Amino acid sequence: MAAHTQPSVLAFTDARRVVEEQARTLRAGQTESVPLLRSRGRVLAEGISADRDFPPFPRATRDGYALRSADVASVPATLKVIGEVRAGTSMAESITGGEAAEIMTGAPVPTGADAVVMVEYTVRQGASVEVQRSVAAGENVVPTGSEARAGQLLLCQGTRMGFAQIAVAAGVGYAQVKVHKAPRVGILSTGDELVDVEADPGPQQIRNSNSYSLAAQVEAAGAEAVRLPIAPDDPVVLRRLIEEGLAHDLLLLTGGVSMGKYDLVEQVLAEFDAEFFFTGAQIQPGRPVVFGRARRDSAPQASYFFGLPGNPVSTMVTFEIFVRPLLDALCGAAPAKLQFLRARLKSEVRTKTGLTRFLPARLSGEFDHTEVELVRWQGSGDVAAIARADCFLVVPPDRELLSAGEMVSVLPR
Ligand code: AMP
Ligand code: MG
Repeated sequence: MAAHTQPSVLAFTDARRVVEEQARTLRAGQTESVPLLRSRGRVLAEGISADRDFPPFPRATRDGYALRSADVASVPATLKVIGEVRAGTSMAESITGGEAAEIMTGAPVPTGADAVVMVEYTVRQGASVEVQRSVAAGENVVPTGSEARAGQLLLCQGTRMGFAQIAVAAGVGYAQVKVHKAPRVGILSTGDELVDVEADPGPQQIRNSNSYSLAAQVEAAGAEAVRLPIAPDDPVVLRRLIEEGLAHDLLLLTGGVSMGKYDLVEQVLAEFDAEFFFTGAQIQPGRPVVFGRARRDSAPQASYFFGLPGNPVSTMVTFEIFVRPLLDALCGAAPAKLQFLRARLKSEVRTKTGLTRFLPARLSGEFDHTEVELVRWQGSGDVAAIARADCFLVVPPDRELLSAGEMVSVLPR
């Protein structure tokens, strides 16, 4: 262990806070311009502003008749229809007293008119229309510039692009957007028992699934995954691969962080002048998780790393609860808060106190009646169980019994 660092096992929320604090000190790297649709899941490196007023004209929100509200203060009222306005067209004439224009949703309301009455409340009689309901001034009309003024900032730098943000960018004419380059995340699985997915495992060997689950999680978070070769539990080879891994924006290791004789990850990291922010968290699964930063001999600055426990479910859970804030920051976004859903527990859950637990569970029900139930699992190696789960039930550290029917917290996946 590096001399300047005390190993420390933190409560879950404290460990989370430490990661968020470090994340806030990070700046995203270079930027690139990508076609609009390719920006999905990426983070804006520029602000996007309205190129004109939105809407650019007073827009009708209903099919009906544009008119002067004063003309229909008492109803029924008969008005002369002087024209028709479809979406994408406009009407040159103004509406004056006693007149109306037939209008469609999305069309510009002609000058002189201040409201639209819905077609349902009218009866057309040749060149006239009988209006059966009054409308207030402004009804069924969105005024020019009421959604945004020309030049107004609509998406600020650091916004993660989803479908709604892509719609905004498309609406203001951005066929290309400037985003932060995806951070490159090195993934290094350790363990003498591991073989590649393509290999035929011997009777004592297992396939390396963690590099794949992590790569999938990394890519889903908008970053680029770089899978390194499997590291054996051998300090020399491990050192070489950790050195290679630290060349990335972030290094994720799995396995080798427990107390076993061949758990060498912390020891080898310490050779890279590592600073450990924590060396465990009071959680289950995932208790031995390690977070810190370390520096390669040649590097001007340290890179962050996580040593995630090797048990596949632990690896997945610790990524979701600890790695994400750092990845958000490396992507150029403000670290997202960890938010839990609330659901009604279907059957009671008994645990021991002391650890915050994240147990594979399944949501059911619908609308306001979300229910949750644990999936049967054989402990934190049980990948099949987690593939049947769609969330983690969060058990607070001071609870030994969660009763059937009570509202509980759930971390969705
Ligand atoms: P460790 O954290 O190294 O003690 O590993 C704990 C358990 O997780 C052991 O049963 C390992 O075989 C298993 N394991 C470790 N690394 C991986 C991996 N990359 N893929 C799948 N299982 C793993
Ligand atoms: Mg191991």
